[in-house]
Amino acid sequence: MRQSQLFTKTRKSAPKDEIAKNAQLLIRAGYIHKEMAGVYSYLPLGLRVLNNIMRVIREEMNAIGGQEITLTALQNPAPWKKTDRWRDDAIDVWFKTELKAGGELGLATTHEEPLTALMTEYINSYKDLPRYVYQFQTKFRNELRAKSGIMRSREFVMKDLYSFSRNEQEFREFYEKCAEAYKKIFNRLEIGEKTFRTFSSGGTFSRFSDEFQTVCDAGEDTIYVHKEKGIAVNKEVYTDEVLAELGIKKEELSEAKAIEVGNIFPLGTRFSDALGLKFKDDKGAETPVVMGSYGIGPGRVMGTIVEVLSDEKGIIWPKEIAPYQAHLILISGGNKDVIAEADRLYDLLAEHGIETLYDDRDARAGEKFADSDLLGIPTRLVVSEKTLAEGGVEVISRKTGATTLVSESAIIQTLVGKQGA
Ligand code: ATP
Ligand code: MG
Repeated sequence: MRQSQLFTKTRKSAPKDEIAKNAQLLIRAGYIHKEMAGVYSYLPLGLRVLNNIMRVIREEMNAIGGQEITLTALQNPAPWKKTDRWRDDAIDVWFKTELKAGGELGLATTHEEPLTALMTEYINSYKDLPRYVYQFQTKFRNELRAKSGIMRSREFVMKDLYSFSRNEQEFREFYEKCAEAYKKIFNRLEIGEKTFRTFSSGGTFSRFSDEFQTVCDAGEDTIYVHKEKGIAVNKEVYTDEVLAELGIKKEELSEAKAIEVGNIFPLGTRFSDALGLKFKDDKGAETPVVMGSYGIGPGRVMGTIVEVLSDEKGIIWPKEIAPYQAHLILISGGNKDVIAEADRLYDLLAEHGIETLYDDRDARAGEKFADSDLLGIPTRLVVSEKTLAEGGVEVISRKTGATTLVSESAIIQTLVGKQGA
Protein backbone atom coordinates (compact mmCIF):
# COMPACT_ATOMS: atom_id res chain seq x y z
CA MET A 1 0.00 0.00 0.00
CA ARG A 2 1.35 3.38 -1.02
CA GLN A 3 0.79 5.81 1.81
CA SER A 4 0.25 8.62 -0.70
CA GLN A 5 -2.92 6.76 -1.76
CA LEU A 6 -4.20 5.90 1.72
CA PHE A 7 -7.23 8.09 2.42
CA THR A 8 -6.56 8.30 6.14
CA LYS A 9 -4.01 10.68 7.62
CA THR A 10 -2.42 10.98 11.01
CA ARG A 11 -3.63 13.76 13.29
CA LYS A 12 -1.94 15.82 15.97
CA SER A 13 -4.81 15.43 18.41
CA ALA A 14 -7.80 13.26 19.19
CA PRO A 15 -11.34 14.58 19.86
CA LYS A 16 -11.43 16.56 23.13
CA ASP A 17 -14.07 14.30 24.69
CA GLU A 18 -11.94 11.18 24.11
CA ILE A 19 -10.22 10.30 27.35
CA ALA A 20 -9.09 6.71 26.72
CA LYS A 21 -5.50 6.28 25.60
CA ASN A 22 -6.37 3.45 23.19
CA ALA A 23 -8.91 5.55 21.31
CA GLN A 24 -6.72 8.67 21.36
CA LEU A 25 -3.80 6.83 19.74
CA LEU A 26 -5.97 4.86 17.31
CA ILE A 27 -7.82 7.99 16.19
CA ARG A 28 -4.62 10.01 15.84
CA ALA A 29 -3.05 7.22 13.77
CA GLY A 30 -6.16 6.98 11.56
CA TYR A 31 -7.07 3.42 12.58
CA ILE A 32 -10.56 4.25 13.81
CA HIS A 33 -13.12 7.05 13.57
CA LYS A 34 -15.31 8.14 16.44
CA GLU A 35 -18.94 8.39 15.36
CA MET A 36 -20.24 9.26 18.82
CA ALA A 37 -19.58 8.24 22.42
CA GLY A 38 -18.96 4.49 22.48
CA VAL A 39 -19.39 4.02 18.72
CA TYR A 40 -16.38 3.66 16.45
CA SER A 41 -15.78 2.85 12.79
CA TYR A 42 -12.73 0.89 11.67
CA LEU A 43 -10.68 2.49 8.86
CA PRO A 44 -8.34 0.62 6.44
CA LEU A 45 -5.40 0.15 8.81
CA GLY A 46 -7.64 -0.50 11.81
CA LEU A 47 -9.68 -3.06 9.93
CA ARG A 48 -6.50 -4.91 8.95
CA VAL A 49 -5.53 -5.16 12.63
CA LEU A 50 -9.03 -6.24 13.68
CA ASN A 51 -9.12 -8.86 10.93
CA ASN A 52 -5.72 -10.16 12.00
CA ILE A 53 -6.90 -10.50 15.60
CA MET A 54 -9.97 -12.36 14.36
CA ARG A 55 -7.76 -14.60 12.21
CA VAL A 56 -5.71 -15.65 15.25
CA ILE A 57 -8.87 -16.33 17.26
CA ARG A 58 -10.48 -18.21 14.36
CA GLU A 59 -7.42 -20.45 13.91
CA GLU A 60 -7.47 -21.42 17.58
CA MET A 61 -11.26 -21.97 17.65
CA ASN A 62 -11.06 -24.16 14.55
CA ALA A 63 -8.20 -26.10 16.17
CA ILE A 64 -10.49 -27.18 19.03
CA GLY A 65 -13.32 -28.19 16.73
CA GLY A 66 -15.29 -24.94 16.41
CA GLN A 67 -17.69 -24.62 13.46
CA GLU A 68 -18.17 -21.05 12.27
CA ILE A 69 -21.55 -19.48 11.52
CA THR A 70 -23.12 -16.02 11.57
CA LEU A 71 -26.36 -15.43 13.38
CA THR A 72 -28.46 -12.32 12.88
CA ALA A 73 -28.17 -9.13 14.87
CA LEU A 74 -31.94 -8.59 14.78
CA GLN A 75 -33.60 -10.63 17.48
CA ASN A 76 -37.03 -12.22 17.62
CA PRO A 77 -38.34 -11.66 21.18
CA ALA A 78 -39.91 -15.16 21.37
CA PRO A 79 -36.94 -17.24 22.58
CA TRP A 80 -35.87 -14.42 24.92
CA LYS A 81 -39.30 -14.47 26.50
CA LYS A 82 -38.99 -18.22 27.03
CA THR A 83 -35.75 -17.74 28.98
CA ASP A 84 -37.18 -14.64 30.72
CA ARG A 85 -34.39 -12.42 29.40
CA TRP A 86 -36.50 -10.09 27.26
CA ARG A 87 -37.10 -7.98 30.36
CA ASP A 88 -34.89 -4.89 30.72
CA ASP A 89 -34.17 -5.81 34.32
CA ALA A 90 -32.84 -9.22 33.18
CA ILE A 91 -30.55 -7.67 30.54
CA ASP A 92 -29.93 -4.02 31.38
CA VAL A 93 -28.14 -3.12 28.11
CA TRP A 94 -30.89 -3.97 25.59
CA PHE A 95 -31.42 -1.83 22.52
CA LYS A 96 -34.95 -2.54 21.32
CA THR A 97 -36.81 -1.34 18.30
CA GLU A 98 -40.14 -1.80 16.53
CA LEU A 99 -41.20 -3.16 13.19
CA LYS A 100 -43.14 -0.76 10.96
CA ALA A 101 -45.54 -3.67 10.42
CA GLY A 102 -45.98 -3.93 14.18
CA GLY A 103 -44.17 -5.93 16.85
CA GLU A 104 -40.96 -5.58 18.81
CA LEU A 105 -37.41 -6.53 17.85
CA GLY A 106 -34.18 -6.56 19.82
CA LEU A 107 -30.61 -5.87 18.73
CA ALA A 108 -28.50 -8.80 19.90
CA THR A 109 -26.55 -8.29 23.11
CA THR A 110 -25.45 -11.94 23.06
CA HIS A 111 -26.69 -15.08 21.28
CA GLU A 112 -27.51 -17.92 23.70
CA GLU A 113 -31.24 -17.78 22.90
CA PRO A 114 -31.26 -17.82 19.08
CA LEU A 115 -28.48 -20.42 18.84
CA THR A 116 -30.03 -22.76 21.41
CA ALA A 117 -33.38 -22.48 19.59
CA LEU A 118 -31.66 -23.13 16.25
CA MET A 119 -29.80 -26.19 17.55
CA THR A 120 -33.10 -27.87 18.54
CA GLU A 121 -33.53 -28.52 14.80
CA TYR A 122 -30.22 -30.39 14.54
CA ILE A 123 -29.62 -32.11 17.88
CA ASN A 124 -31.80 -35.13 18.59
CA SER A 125 -29.60 -38.00 19.64
CA TYR A 126 -26.43 -38.57 21.68
CA LYS A 127 -24.79 -39.17 18.28
CA ASP A 128 -25.31 -35.49 17.44
CA LEU A 129 -23.12 -34.39 20.37
CA PRO A 130 -20.83 -32.78 21.33
CA ARG A 131 -20.93 -29.74 19.04
CA TYR A 132 -19.03 -26.45 19.18
CA VAL A 133 -20.41 -23.50 17.26
CA TYR A 134 -19.00 -19.97 17.05
CA GLN A 135 -19.27 -16.69 15.23
CA PHE A 136 -17.81 -13.23 14.93
CA GLN A 137 -20.85 -11.07 15.13
CA THR A 138 -21.96 -7.59 16.06
CA LYS A 139 -23.43 -7.07 19.50
CA PHE A 140 -25.29 -3.97 20.57
CA ARG A 141 -25.21 -2.96 24.19
CA ASN A 142 -26.65 0.16 25.70
CA GLU A 143 -23.68 0.50 28.07
CA LEU A 144 -24.22 3.24 30.65
CA ARG A 145 -20.58 4.31 30.57
CA ALA A 146 -18.48 4.56 27.44
CA LYS A 147 -15.19 6.00 28.62
CA SER A 148 -12.79 3.22 27.70
CA GLY A 149 -12.60 3.80 23.95
CA ILE A 150 -12.93 0.63 21.87
CA MET A 151 -12.58 -1.47 25.02
CA ARG A 152 -16.22 -0.73 25.91
CA SER A 153 -18.32 0.30 22.99
CA ARG A 154 -22.06 0.21 22.32
CA GLU A 155 -21.63 -1.67 19.05
CA PHE A 156 -18.84 -4.22 18.80
CA VAL A 157 -17.91 -7.52 17.26
CA MET A 158 -17.69 -10.48 19.62
CA LYS A 159 -16.33 -13.94 19.06
CA ASP A 160 -18.81 -16.08 20.88
CA LEU A 161 -18.58 -19.84 20.93
CA TYR A 162 -21.19 -22.10 22.48
CA SER A 163 -20.57 -25.70 23.49
CA PHE A 164 -23.23 -28.40 23.46
CA SER A 165 -22.31 -31.49 25.45
CA ARG A 166 -23.93 -34.69 26.66
CA ASN A 167 -22.97 -34.32 30.30
CA GLU A 168 -21.03 -32.31 32.83
CA GLN A 169 -17.80 -34.25 32.31
CA GLU A 170 -17.84 -33.84 28.55
CA PHE A 171 -18.56 -30.14 29.04
CA ARG A 172 -15.65 -29.74 31.52
CA GLU A 173 -13.19 -31.36 29.14
CA PHE A 174 -14.03 -28.85 26.45
CA TYR A 175 -14.08 -25.97 28.93
CA GLU A 176 -10.46 -26.72 29.84
CA LYS A 177 -9.51 -27.13 26.18
CA CYS A 178 -10.97 -23.74 25.42
CA ALA A 179 -9.12 -22.19 28.36
CA GLU A 180 -5.89 -23.56 26.82
CA ALA A 181 -6.87 -22.16 23.41
CA TYR A 182 -7.43 -18.76 25.01
CA LYS A 183 -3.93 -18.89 26.50
CA LYS A 184 -2.51 -19.59 23.05
CA ILE A 185 -4.47 -16.70 21.58
CA PHE A 186 -3.25 -14.19 24.18
CA ASN A 187 0.32 -15.46 23.83
CA ARG A 188 0.19 -15.00 20.05
CA LEU A 189 -1.18 -11.49 20.64
CA GLU A 190 1.79 -10.79 22.96
CA ILE A 191 -0.31 -9.97 26.02
CA GLY A 192 -0.01 -13.50 27.43
CA GLU A 193 2.41 -12.59 30.20
CA LYS A 194 0.00 -10.02 31.60
CA THR A 195 -3.17 -12.02 31.08
CA PHE A 196 -4.43 -14.28 33.87
CA ARG A 197 -7.15 -16.86 34.04
CA THR A 198 -9.26 -15.27 36.74
CA PHE A 199 -11.74 -16.99 38.99
CA SER A 200 -14.95 -14.95 38.76
CA SER A 201 -18.62 -14.87 39.52
CA GLY A 202 -20.89 -16.90 37.26
CA GLY A 203 -23.58 -14.24 37.17
CA THR A 204 -27.05 -15.71 36.76
CA PHE A 205 -25.82 -18.90 35.08
CA SER A 206 -23.66 -20.74 37.58
CA ARG A 207 -21.72 -20.13 40.74
CA PHE A 208 -18.43 -19.39 39.01
CA SER A 209 -16.88 -18.65 35.67
CA ASP A 210 -13.40 -17.84 34.39
CA GLU A 211 -12.38 -14.50 32.98
CA PHE A 212 -9.18 -13.73 31.14
CA GLN A 213 -7.95 -10.49 32.65
CA THR A 214 -5.04 -8.41 31.34
CA VAL A 215 -3.29 -6.40 34.03
CA CYS A 216 -3.43 -2.72 33.08
CA ASP A 217 -4.08 0.51 35.00
CA ALA A 218 -6.78 1.47 32.48
CA GLY A 219 -8.78 -1.62 33.45
CA GLU A 220 -12.22 -1.35 35.02
CA ASP A 221 -11.87 -4.52 37.12
CA THR A 222 -9.86 -5.29 40.24
CA ILE A 223 -8.21 -8.68 40.50
CA TYR A 224 -5.82 -10.44 42.90
CA VAL A 225 -2.96 -12.09 41.05
CA HIS A 226 -1.08 -15.21 42.13
CA LYS A 227 2.11 -14.75 40.10
CA GLU A 228 3.58 -18.16 40.84
CA LYS A 229 0.47 -20.10 39.83
CA GLY A 230 -0.31 -17.69 37.01
CA ILE A 231 -3.94 -17.34 38.10
CA ALA A 232 -6.05 -14.59 39.65
CA VAL A 233 -9.26 -14.01 41.58
CA ASN A 234 -11.75 -11.29 40.70
CA LYS A 235 -12.55 -8.91 43.57
CA GLU A 236 -16.24 -9.89 43.14
CA VAL A 237 -15.52 -13.35 44.54
CA TYR A 238 -12.48 -12.57 46.69
CA THR A 239 -13.58 -14.37 49.86
CA ASP A 240 -11.88 -16.69 52.33
CA GLU A 241 -14.06 -19.53 51.06
CA VAL A 242 -12.96 -19.06 47.44
CA LEU A 243 -9.29 -18.72 48.39
CA ALA A 244 -9.50 -21.96 50.36
CA GLU A 245 -11.16 -23.68 47.42
CA LEU A 246 -8.32 -22.55 45.14
CA GLY A 247 -5.69 -23.46 47.73
CA ILE A 248 -4.15 -19.97 47.80
CA LYS A 249 -3.42 -17.52 50.61
CA LYS A 250 -4.12 -13.78 50.82
CA GLU A 251 -0.41 -13.02 51.41
CA GLU A 252 0.51 -14.62 48.08
CA LEU A 253 -1.72 -12.28 46.06
CA SER A 254 -1.18 -8.80 44.70
CA GLU A 255 -3.98 -6.42 43.78
CA ALA A 256 -4.11 -5.04 40.24
CA LYS A 257 -6.41 -3.23 37.84
CA ALA A 258 -7.26 -5.38 34.83
CA ILE A 259 -9.22 -5.56 31.57
CA GLU A 260 -11.51 -8.54 30.89
CA VAL A 261 -10.42 -9.57 27.40
CA GLY A 262 -12.34 -12.83 27.36
CA ASN A 263 -14.39 -15.17 29.46
CA ILE A 264 -15.65 -18.74 29.60
CA PHE A 265 -18.92 -19.59 31.28
CA PRO A 266 -20.67 -22.79 32.31
CA LEU A 267 -24.32 -22.42 31.30
CA GLY A 268 -25.49 -25.79 32.61
CA THR A 269 -29.00 -26.52 31.31
CA ARG A 270 -30.33 -23.00 31.89
CA PHE A 271 -30.99 -22.41 28.18
CA SER A 272 -31.56 -25.97 26.99
CA ASP A 273 -34.29 -26.45 29.63
CA ALA A 274 -36.05 -23.21 28.74
CA LEU A 275 -35.85 -23.75 24.97
CA GLY A 276 -36.30 -27.52 24.84
CA LEU A 277 -32.84 -28.51 23.58
CA LYS A 278 -32.83 -32.21 24.46
CA PHE A 279 -31.31 -35.40 23.10
CA LYS A 280 -32.03 -39.10 23.46
CA ASP A 281 -29.22 -40.83 25.31
CA ASP A 282 -28.03 -44.34 24.38
CA LYS A 283 -30.94 -45.83 26.38
CA GLY A 284 -33.48 -43.61 24.67
CA ALA A 285 -34.04 -41.31 27.67
CA GLU A 286 -34.58 -37.58 26.94
CA THR A 287 -31.82 -35.47 28.50
CA PRO A 288 -31.17 -31.71 28.39
CA VAL A 289 -27.96 -30.61 26.60
CA VAL A 290 -25.22 -29.18 28.87
CA MET A 291 -23.99 -25.85 27.52
CA GLY A 292 -21.14 -23.38 27.90
CA SER A 293 -20.34 -20.00 26.38
CA TYR A 294 -16.95 -18.58 25.48
CA GLY A 295 -16.49 -14.90 24.54
CA ILE A 296 -13.68 -12.68 23.32
CA GLY A 297 -14.07 -9.10 22.12
CA PRO A 298 -11.57 -8.50 19.27
CA GLY A 299 -12.08 -4.73 19.55
CA ARG A 300 -11.50 -4.80 23.29
CA VAL A 301 -8.40 -6.93 22.70
CA MET A 302 -7.14 -4.39 20.14
CA GLY A 303 -7.71 -1.55 22.62
CA THR A 304 -5.98 -3.54 25.37
CA ILE A 305 -2.94 -4.17 23.17
CA VAL A 306 -2.66 -0.43 22.53
CA GLU A 307 -3.02 0.32 26.25
CA VAL A 308 -0.44 -2.27 27.28
CA LEU A 309 2.16 -2.22 24.50
CA SER A 310 2.34 1.42 23.30
CA ASP A 311 5.01 3.95 24.32
CA GLU A 312 5.15 7.76 24.41
CA LYS A 313 5.64 7.90 20.63
CA GLY A 314 2.73 5.71 19.65
CA ILE A 315 1.54 2.18 19.09
CA ILE A 316 3.71 -0.96 18.95
CA TRP A 317 1.87 -3.81 17.22
CA PRO A 318 2.68 -7.48 17.81
CA LYS A 319 3.88 -9.07 14.55
CA GLU A 320 0.90 -11.36 14.11
CA ILE A 321 -1.62 -8.55 14.02
CA ALA A 322 0.25 -5.52 12.65
CA PRO A 323 -1.55 -3.91 9.71
CA TYR A 324 1.63 -4.39 7.65
CA GLN A 325 4.84 -6.25 8.42
CA ALA A 326 7.14 -3.55 7.07
CA HIS A 327 6.96 0.22 6.86
CA LEU A 328 9.15 1.30 3.96
CA ILE A 329 10.16 4.94 4.26
CA LEU A 330 11.51 6.91 1.36
CA ILE A 331 13.67 9.92 2.19
CA SER A 332 14.38 11.04 -1.35
CA GLY A 333 15.59 14.61 -1.01
CA GLY A 334 14.39 14.90 -4.62
CA ASN A 335 16.96 12.35 -5.82
CA LYS A 336 15.47 10.18 -8.59
CA ASP A 337 17.90 7.31 -7.96
CA VAL A 338 16.75 7.06 -4.37
CA ILE A 339 13.11 7.01 -5.46
CA ALA A 340 13.85 4.30 -8.03
CA GLU A 341 15.65 2.26 -5.41
CA ALA A 342 12.78 2.49 -2.91
CA ASP A 343 10.22 1.65 -5.63
CA ARG A 344 12.28 -1.39 -6.57
CA LEU A 345 12.51 -2.55 -2.96
CA TYR A 346 8.72 -2.10 -2.58
CA ASP A 347 8.13 -4.36 -5.59
CA LEU A 348 10.65 -6.88 -4.31
CA LEU A 349 8.93 -7.05 -0.91
CA ALA A 350 5.58 -7.60 -2.65
CA GLU A 351 7.06 -10.37 -4.80
CA HIS A 352 8.08 -12.15 -1.61
CA GLY A 353 4.64 -11.73 -0.09
CA ILE A 354 5.80 -9.24 2.55
CA GLU A 355 2.94 -6.86 3.21
CA THR A 356 4.35 -3.37 3.20
CA LEU A 357 3.13 0.15 3.79
CA TYR A 358 5.25 2.37 1.57
CA ASP A 359 5.63 5.97 2.73
CA ASP A 360 6.18 7.48 -0.69
CA ARG A 361 4.68 10.82 0.35
CA ASP A 362 6.34 14.10 -0.34
CA ALA A 363 6.98 14.97 3.29
CA ARG A 364 9.88 15.81 5.62
CA ALA A 365 11.89 12.99 7.18
CA GLY A 366 10.97 14.08 10.71
CA GLU A 367 7.28 13.96 9.91
CA LYS A 368 7.59 10.52 8.31
CA PHE A 369 9.46 9.08 11.28
CA ALA A 370 7.00 10.55 13.78
CA ASP A 371 4.08 9.09 11.80
CA SER A 372 5.85 5.76 11.58
CA ASP A 373 6.31 5.69 15.36
CA LEU A 374 2.64 6.52 15.83
CA LEU A 375 1.45 3.83 13.39
CA GLY A 376 3.54 1.15 15.10
CA ILE A 377 4.43 -1.24 12.27
CA PRO A 378 7.06 -3.66 13.68
CA THR A 379 9.87 -3.17 11.13
CA ARG A 380 10.84 0.12 9.51
CA LEU A 381 12.96 0.16 6.37
CA VAL A 382 14.57 3.47 5.41
CA VAL A 383 15.88 4.22 1.93
CA SER A 384 17.75 7.53 1.58
CA GLU A 385 20.77 9.05 -0.17
CA LYS A 386 22.83 7.97 2.81
CA THR A 387 21.70 4.33 2.75
CA LEU A 388 22.12 4.22 -1.03
CA ALA A 389 25.73 5.42 -0.67
CA GLU A 390 26.33 2.80 2.02
CA GLY A 391 24.88 0.05 -0.17
CA GLY A 392 22.11 -1.12 2.11
CA VAL A 393 18.82 -0.31 3.79
CA GLU A 394 18.39 0.94 7.33
CA VAL A 395 16.28 -1.47 9.37
CA ILE A 396 14.75 -0.20 12.60
CA SER A 397 12.77 -2.24 15.10
CA ARG A 398 9.77 -0.29 16.40
CA LYS A 399 9.89 -2.21 19.68
CA THR A 400 13.56 -1.86 20.59
CA GLY A 401 14.68 0.99 18.34
CA ALA A 402 17.65 -1.16 17.28
CA THR A 403 19.03 0.09 13.97
CA THR A 404 21.15 -1.85 11.49
CA LEU A 405 22.29 -1.39 7.91
CA VAL A 406 21.29 -4.50 6.00
CA SER A 407 21.53 -5.71 2.42
CA GLU A 408 18.31 -6.16 0.45
CA SER A 409 18.57 -9.93 0.30
CA ALA A 410 19.08 -10.15 4.06
CA ILE A 411 15.94 -8.03 4.60
CA ILE A 412 13.85 -10.34 2.47
CA GLN A 413 15.23 -13.34 4.29
CA THR A 414 14.48 -12.05 7.79
CA LEU A 415 11.04 -10.67 6.90
CA VAL A 416 9.96 -13.82 5.09
CA GLY A 417 11.12 -15.85 8.08
CA LYS A 418 9.06 -13.70 10.43
CA GLN A 419 5.78 -13.95 8.55
CA GLY A 420 3.21 -15.77 10.57
CA ALA A 421 5.86 -16.66 13.14
P1 ATP B 1 -17.99 -6.53 31.01
O1 ATP B 1 -18.18 -7.10 32.38
O2 ATP B 1 -16.66 -5.91 30.80
O3 ATP B 1 -19.14 -5.66 30.60
P2 ATP B 1 -19.23 -8.83 30.01
O4 ATP B 1 -19.17 -9.67 31.21
O5 ATP B 1 -20.48 -8.11 29.69
O6 ATP B 1 -18.03 -7.78 30.04
P3 ATP B 1 -19.52 -10.78 27.96
O7 ATP B 1 -20.92 -10.40 27.81
O8 ATP B 1 -19.29 -12.14 28.46
O9 ATP B 1 -18.73 -9.71 28.80
O10 ATP B 1 -18.72 -10.58 26.61
C1 ATP B 1 -17.64 -11.40 26.20
C2 ATP B 1 -16.47 -10.54 25.79
O11 ATP B 1 -16.88 -9.50 24.91
C3 ATP B 1 -15.81 -9.80 26.95
O12 ATP B 1 -14.89 -10.63 27.59
C4 ATP B 1 -15.14 -8.65 26.23
O13 ATP B 1 -13.90 -9.06 25.64
C5 ATP B 1 -16.11 -8.34 25.12
N1 ATP B 1 -16.99 -7.21 25.46
C6 ATP B 1 -18.01 -7.19 26.36
N2 ATP B 1 -18.62 -6.00 26.39
C7 ATP B 1 -17.95 -5.22 25.47
C8 ATP B 1 -18.10 -3.88 25.03
N3 ATP B 1 -19.06 -3.09 25.52
N4 ATP B 1 -17.25 -3.41 24.09
C9 ATP B 1 -16.29 -4.21 23.57
N5 ATP B 1 -16.10 -5.48 23.95
C10 ATP B 1 -16.91 -5.99 24.89
MG1 MG C 1 -20.94 -6.08 30.01
